[in-house]
Amino acid sequence: MKKSYSRLLKILGLIAIPPALYLGSRKLTIEMNEYCLNKSSKIENTTHLNYLMENEKKVQDINGKTIKILYTSNPEERFNCFPALEKNTYYLTLDSVLQNNSSGVIIHEMNHIAKGDCDKRYPKFINNNFIEPRTAFYTFKRIWKSNH
Ligand SMILES: [Zn+2]
Repeated sequence: MKKSYSRLLKILGLIAIPPALYLGSRKLTIEMNEYCLNKSSKIENTTHLNYLMENEKKVQDINGKTIKILYTSNPEERFNCFPALEKNTYYLTLDSVLQNNSSGVIIHEMNHIAKGDCDKRYPKFINNNFIEPRTAFYTFKRIWKSNH
């Protein structure tokens, strides 16, 4: 009786590992994104924004692409990127209040463009578990280095 109880606990423990890893990595991605948004420099004006975008084009080697900014007051739509109808052209959505955006957002979204994520429609599972953590970690490393 005792032995089968401890075996049951072991099995339950093993079953709990995948969801725990999943929730842990989701939480870590969200934490990294929060850090990047809050611990990177706020965008002061359009000159600053243009400077950040030109710099990212060089750093992330995406010189052949045109990136247009769309401003939105909808929190669900901001901090996103998607392809435009024109070839090699992308939209990057920012909060309509310029100072609510930060350099971390530019690094993050331009990393998606650099990696070709905006050209593909990944299933949510792939996006949440592989694409977002990769870009969140890339951006986190960049912001962390600039703060230390
Ligand atoms: Zn992202």
